[in-house]
Amino acid sequence: MQALIGLGSNLDHPAQRLISALRALQRLPGLTLRHHSRLYASAPVGPQDQPDYVNAVAAVDTTLSPHALLHTLQALELAAGRQRLRHWGERTLDLDILLLDNCVIDSDDLRVPHPQMTRRAFVLEPLLEICPHALLPDGTALSSFLGQVAEQPISPLAELDRDALIE
Ligand code: AMP
Repeated sequence: MQALIGLGSNLDHPAQRLISALRALQRLPGLTLRHHSRLYASAPVGPQDQPDYVNAVAAVDTTLSPHALLHTLQALELAAGRQRLRHWGERTLDLDILLLDNCVIDSDDLRVPHPQMTRRAFVLEPLLEICPHALLPDGTALSSFLGQVAEQPISPLAELDRDALIE
């Protein structure tokens, strides 16, 4: 199954954190990193008195079940010393499952497609960089939401080229 995973951080050297998280994704059993986007800097959603975020999206193939994947990503967040100080506030590492093939999941702890993904430039831009023709399970092209997020400031960083970490 192919999973698209959103990565974000705005604490403690966020660009390095994301590069480390991408490397960690590569080492996880049951997971193969196929593509990753560049890193993007984006303004915070929610409280504005916090540092800018660094975001990226990774495409992985996985043999894990959806919930096993969620728990694996949560373990990575914890290993990164995840701090979460307030709702929509700053965090050391945030890993979200954006899409899982054409699956629709609506359980207490896991919703796929990720409910916020079509409203966030910091998800759509890196995702479309690696999967320009990505569709929601209902067949809607994700690129069709780009116009709605055009006002959200986001820009690629020079630290990492697309797919530079793929071995
Ligand atoms: P946050 O870290 O603020 O993104 O939210 C984490 C919570 O969202 C966890 O309790 C997860 O169980 C829940 N969650 C629901 N759907 C997802 C998803 N698609 N990816 C990651 N976490 C999810």
